[in-house]
Amino acid sequence: MHSLYLYQIIRHSMKNITRFMLIGLSCIFFFSCKKDEIITTPEPTGIISGKIVAQNNRTPIPNALIFVTTPNGFYSTYTDVDGNFTLTAAAGDRDLHIQTGNGDKFRTVLRVSITEDQTTILSLPVNLNQVASLAYIPGTYDKIESILRDTLGYNAQYIDPNNLMNIIGISSYDAVFINCGTMNFNTNPTTDSVLARYVSAGGSIYASDYAMDFIEGKFVLGTACGTDRYFGFIPDSLVCSRRTGTVSTVVGANVVSQELQTYLGRNAMDIIYNLGTWERIQYVNNDFWETMITDPTDGSPLFIRSNQYHQNSSTPPPAIGHQDPTQVTVCHTLPTGKKVNITISTDEAVSHFSHGDTTGSCNNPNNSGWIYFTTFHNEQNGFINQDMKRILEFMILNL
Ligand SMILES: [Zn+2]
Repeated sequence: MHSLYLYQIIRHSMKNITRFMLIGLSCIFFFSCKKDEIITTPEPTGIISGKIVAQNNRTPIPNALIFVTTPNGFYSTYTDVDGNFTLTAAAGDRDLHIQTGNGDKFRTVLRVSITEDQTTILSLPVNLNQVASLAYIPGTYDKIESILRDTLGYNAQYIDPNNLMNIIGISSYDAVFINCGTMNFNTNPTTDSVLARYVSAGGSIYASDYAMDFIEGKFVLGTACGTDRYFGFIPDSLVCSRRTGTVSTVVGANVVSQELQTYLGRNAMDIIYNLGTWERIQYVNNDFWETMITDPTDGSPLFIRSNQYHQNSSTPPPAIGHQDPTQVTVCHTLPTGKKVNITISTDEAVSHFSHGDTTGSCNNPNNSGWIYFTTFHNEQNGFINQDMKRILEFMILNL
């Protein structure tokens, strides 16, 4: 009995030793010993290429993420500045994913057939679909809704500014555009608390020029930085802007955001200010805001964004925007080390969770929404040039 028991112990140990040796050999072979890494066998691949355009069938979508995800692999590329892509991916009938931003607002899934060692060309341009529910508040000086509709073919619901007085008035929208010159309506403590809750819970906003009131507070002419603006849900310590700009064109404005540079395919552009006394940004906190474009004469930001706003609250956050329980947004790491957000079906997400992906935004632990602000206008009729139009497209596609 004793010897048999001893034999079993030895046999068991030998099995373990063999297992360890095998794991060790696999590690040497695959160069990686990370516990959560899946060791995969290479899949046969083919090439697929095509062009991505907006819903209007016309406007190309640059820097869109194109990917195929299988249980054994993730194959991805980006569209170029003309919306064209060429992707090498696992052969077979596959779901081709097309996304911008986190993939939760603009996304298309197209069933394609990829043939091993062959190139398949999609003969027709593929539309990037609007998944998000969007709304806009009209303004005297701006019309972001016409960029959305006429330049891209997407749509937003008109809402009255009084909707900002109750979270129910905006919570069903993924993003709200606040145009410059909201008539007969002022920011106040109620709009502040509504916007704070909305952005904290994942809702995005875009404001142009005078609509800075809704971010930083109401401006009083003649006051300098250091004098707090009235209301505004973003503390004055994080941004200070003053209505001082003149009618002018900023020639050769610097596109400092790498992402925006890639989208535009250039790093400088002219920005037209068609009206005087626009909100010139005097100061931004760089830990909070990402500066996208600056004035070359003094380095002041002309276009900023942030997804770092978060307000702790004991009240549960409201559900924001369209809801689709079949889809999940995860943070995936590309072979280059770059982290990207992808929105995929819950079935597809299984293999991503097993290699360590987490749900939610990659760079935003609270999953807050975006705050976008342009010092310049967005109206269509002659006052904005092609570059400005494309900046606004970028903003819309990356909400
Ligand atoms: Zn992944």
